[in-house]
Amino acid sequence: MTLLEQQLRQETPRSLKALREAENACRRCNLYRFATQAVPGEGPRDASLMLIGEQPGNDEDLDGHPFVGPAGRVLDKALQEAGIDRKQVFVTNAVKHFKHEMRGKRRLHKRPDPGEIDACRWWQHIERELVKPKLMVALGATAARSVFERVITIHKMRGCVVPVRDGGNALVTIHPSYLLRLREERDKRTEYGRFLADLITAKAFVDRM
Ligand code: SF4
Repeated sequence: MTLLEQQLRQETPRSLKALREAENACRRCNLYRFATQAVPGEGPRDASLMLIGEQPGNDEDLDGHPFVGPAGRVLDKALQEAGIDRKQVFVTNAVKHFKHEMRGKRRLHKRPDPGEIDACRWWQHIERELVKPKLMVALGATAARSVFERVITIHKMRGCVVPVRDGGNALVTIHPSYLLRLREERDKRTEYGRFLADLITAKAFVDRM
């Protein structure tokens, strides 16, 4: 092992607490400059299921916890209906700092670019290393890109358990914020049902393993 590899190994966080601190100190891309804080993943170290979203939203940035805003409430409802206890799940995001643009006094969500997703994958890999989930659920295109390290078309892969190149399995579905953007009630009901079905597939896979 080279000196650099030894140094990297020593500096890699070995606990979720150390990981949280390291993420807050991260300067691997520019997003830390504009966010209140990093929002680390949360959940048990031995969680079987890891849910990966895109990035913290406005509420998460202020609160410091993942999925506490409107999309989080949709996720909580779907998890409950799928028979999944959120307290037993590790919930995180592909990108740990909130990317946004100012519109007047409002901070509007801005999608992370490929360079930011790739930079932040470092932390996602450490989360996976620490938690070793049986299944990752990638919520939306950003999370899917982070997990599979390439561009993923959601509708082509959605709902199937697929092996990941560097180990483990993942299932791709939509991000719950998509459901909030739909205008028609009928579309909302249909898409919510599909999202719920994906979570039920994830639970069945984890329960079988
Ligand atoms: S978004 Fe990720 S890579 Fe960028 S500074 Fe924050 S923690 Fe680091």
